[in-house]
Amino acid sequence: MLSLDSPIANPTSPARFPLRSALAAFFALLAVALLARCASAPPPREHDEIVAAGRSFHTGTQVVLWHDQGGYDAYQTQKRFKLDEPPDGQLRYRKVRADLPAELEANVTARGWRLDELRAIVRVFVLHFDVAGTSRQCFKILQDVRNLSVHFLLDTDGTIYQTLDLQEQAHHATYANKVSVGVEIAHPGCYPRQRHPDMMRWYEQDEGGWRMKFPAFLGETGVRTKGFVPRPAQNEGLSGAIHGTQYWQLDFTEQQYHALARLCAALHRVFPRIRLDAPRGEDGAVLTTNLPPEQLLGFEGIVGHFHVQRNKTDPGPAFQWERLLREARELSQ
Ligand SMILES: [Zn+2]
Repeated sequence: MLSLDSPIANPTSPARFPLRSALAAFFALLAVALLARCASAPPPREHDEIVAAGRSFHTGTQVVLWHDQGGYDAYQTQKRFKLDEPPDGQLRYRKVRADLPAELEANVTARGWRLDELRAIVRVFVLHFDVAGTSRQCFKILQDVRNLSVHFLLDTDGTIYQTLDLQEQAHHATYANKVSVGVEIAHPGCYPRQRHPDMMRWYEQDEGGWRMKFPAFLGETGVRTKGFVPRPAQNEGLSGAIHGTQYWQLDFTEQQYHALARLCAALHRVFPRIRLDAPRGEDGAVLTTNLPPEQLLGFEGIVGHFHVQRNKTDPGPAFQWERLLREARELSQ
C-alpha cells in the first residue's frame, strides 16, 4: 500500500515523475494489487461446504447455504413464505450460546467465535425427523409458525440445507441446544400402529415397492431433484420400541443415509468432540430411550431427539444407527 508521502502521491514534485512513468507505475501497482487479491481470494465454492465460525468445510455431498438462491435463512426476522408481511423482529436462534464460562461469553459477545473456542463447546449432533415430509414444509413450520430453528434440513433427495452458521444456538432440542447442532430429516414420522391413517397419507405402493407421496396440502414440494420419487431404504414397515412403546415406521431414503453419513463425518472433523457413536446400553446396543440430562450433557457424539427428551420419538425405530455410524467412520478414515 502507498503511504501518503510517497513520491507518486506527492503533488509537490511532479518534475521527478513525468506522466508516462507515473502511469506505468500506477498500472504496475494495480497489477500487483490484483494478483495479491487473486492469491488471497477464497477458492470457488463446490456447493458441498458447511460453515462453522465463518469457515467452510467440505462434506462431499450437496449443501445449500442460507444465503444461496433457494436456501433457507434462519437469520431472517420475518416469515419466509409471507414476504408481504413486515419483519416481526423475532430472532429464531440465540446469538450467544447459553451457560458459557464468563470470560468466553464476554469475548464471544465482543468479537464473535473463534473455531477453537466453538470446538471446546459443541459436542452433540441431534438427529430429528421433521414430520413435515419435505425440508420446505419443515422450514415453513419452524420459521413462519413456531419461531424455532435448526442448523440443517435434510430433504428426501439427500439435499442438505444449512440455515445458520454452526456457531449459533438453534432452538431444536431444549436443554441440549447450548452444546449441540441439529438436523431435521424430512420424513413423515413414526406411528403407534401399522398402516396408521396419518402415516398412509404419505405412502403408496407400486411395482417398485413402497414410495412416498406428497399430500396435496403441501402444494410445492421444493425438492430440488426434479421428478424424484422417495423410496424407503428398506422396503417394509418396521417396528420397534422407543421409551418402551412400540411404533411403526417406514425407513428414510438411501439418498438421506448417503448425505447424512457425509454430514456426520464432516461434523466430526469440524467438532472432534462429536464422536461417531451413539449412546449405548450395557449390552452394547444403541439406547432406545432418553438419558438423564446430566448424562446427555456429558455425552459426546450423535444422538436422537428421543435420547434428549422423553416426549420425543425421533428419528424413530426404523432409523439404521449402525449403518450410519459405520459409513461415517469409513468416510473419516
Ligand atoms: Zn425432534
